[in-house]
Amino acid sequence: MRTAMSRQELGAGVDFLVVGAGIIGLSIAREIKRRQPTAAVAVIEKELDVGEHTSGRNSGVLHAGFYYAADSLKARFCRDGNRRLRAYCEAKGLPVNACGKLVVVANDGEQGTLDVLFDRARANGIDVKEVSDKQAREIEPRARTKGRALWSPTTASIDPGLLMHALKADAIEAGIFLHFGAAFLGRDGDVVRTSLGPIAARYVVNAAGLYADKIALLYGFSQNTRILPFKGVYLHSDEPPGALATHVYPVPNLKNPFLGVHFTVTVDRRVKIGPTAMPAFWREHYGGLGGFNPLELGEIIGRQLGLAFGAKFDFLGLAREEMKKYRRSTLVSQAARLVDDVRPAHYRRWGQPGIRAQLLRLKERELEMDFVIEGDARSMHVLNAVSPGLTCALPFAEHIVDEIEARLGIVRQTPPPPAMYEEAEEPARMEQPTKPKRTRKPPASKTRPPKPSTSS
Ligand SMILES: Cc1cc2nc3c(=O)[nH]c(=O)nc-3n(C[C@H](O)[C@H](O)[C@H](O)COP(=O)(O)OP(=O)(O)OC[C@H]3O[C@@H](n4cnc5c(N)ncnc54)[C@H](O)[C@@H]3O)c2cc1C
Repeated sequence: MRTAMSRQELGAGVDFLVVGAGIIGLSIAREIKRRQPTAAVAVIEKELDVGEHTSGRNSGVLHAGFYYAADSLKARFCRDGNRRLRAYCEAKGLPVNACGKLVVVANDGEQGTLDVLFDRARANGIDVKEVSDKQAREIEPRARTKGRALWSPTTASIDPGLLMHALKADAIEAGIFLHFGAAFLGRDGDVVRTSLGPIAARYVVNAAGLYADKIALLYGFSQNTRILPFKGVYLHSDEPPGALATHVYPVPNLKNPFLGVHFTVTVDRRVKIGPTAMPAFWREHYGGLGGFNPLELGEIIGRQLGLAFGAKFDFLGLAREEMKKYRRSTLVSQAARLVDDVRPAHYRRWGQPGIRAQLLRLKERELEMDFVIEGDARSMHVLNAVSPGLTCALPFAEHIVDEIEARLGIVRQTPPPPAMYEEAEEPARMEQPTKPKRTRKPPASKTRPPKPSTSS
């Protein structure tokens, strides 16, 4: 099976050129090929394999969808994205840990925000339950909460690296041409300049993650937005698998797009704290001087300084709080508010960090909360594909391809054939991981039955 085109063929032209082989780029390429099997679809990726950046460096959580305002794209895609990625992983034999999530309350001041999460869950058709502190302890005996908590049975964990490789194999099988070590360098009209040579592209889809704004600018988009990178680091516990039965998250500050220090249970039932949301000083600033780019350093520090005055959110306060989390003891003690018996001695190993391609609105000086796409009849640009971008990838990619088709004037009389994992039935009820001596019976729901989501 051919996996790539020759330079000559690329020079002669492709129908669709996708920039970036992260989960968003690969999902879009697959969706285009599914709808237009005879189209020549190529993906260029500057790294030598998939998942080198955010798609391979995240928490691997399939979010349920109760954090997001009902009118957002995130809300529209999260519930179905969770269900479909879980079904995809199961169909491919990839592991899924259907461990669920507790959102616990630290003080009475957080009760109102917890109510907002319940309201959003209802509006978004998400299955959550209000549980008492006693019931929360039945779910996770170490959980600490004030009075009540939110229980989300559909939150789960997967292995993002395995997922990316499965998507890559699917893309190859579908006849998509994947070009690794191929960087987008610029454009001359409809010809894209790449490190492989020129590629004539009828349509360009920019899914370049941390560099998406730079590429969008070359096509006249992202005029009022720039990526402001935030780094997420993790601390791994050396406790045995199953030390926590479920994810334990705090009530978030809904004014910013980050979820606060929390405990994630990985697909292999191990525990990690994080990710943080520390300002990064260049786009691929994972650690040390790796990926160092002096131009980006100047640009990003300048932007961060600009936010010190007149931003719509407290950037300096956020930065100060986040930078403290580079101290292991601080990060562990903050997380220790959520569960009992957290011992710093268990948390000695830092994990692989990831960087959020967070969009900043320049005029308004505020962080963008939702996914953003901008495009026309020649190109489409995916901006702010931040969390829960992994969870949402499949339905989000369909939406993006709908938007591309609309701009190309393609009118579909009948929906395109479903992908093999696009099962129509309701998801099977998630099973709880079993652990001896722990009763994990979710209590009966006190909330109204979920309304059907408005998403497709
Ligand atoms: C710390 C962290 C934790 C997260 N946890 C979760 C989670 O638990 N659940 C969830 O749903 N979401 C999570 N997310 C969000 C999720 O990971 C992202 O939404 C998703 O991975 C974005 O995918 P992407 O394809 O847009 O970006 P990427 O994976 O970054 O892909 C973009 C690709 O474009 C390539 N590229 C860039 N520039 C060029 C160029 N010039 N030429 C060619 N190629 C280029 C890059 O090399 C990269 O491979 C998390 C994110 C972070 C940072």
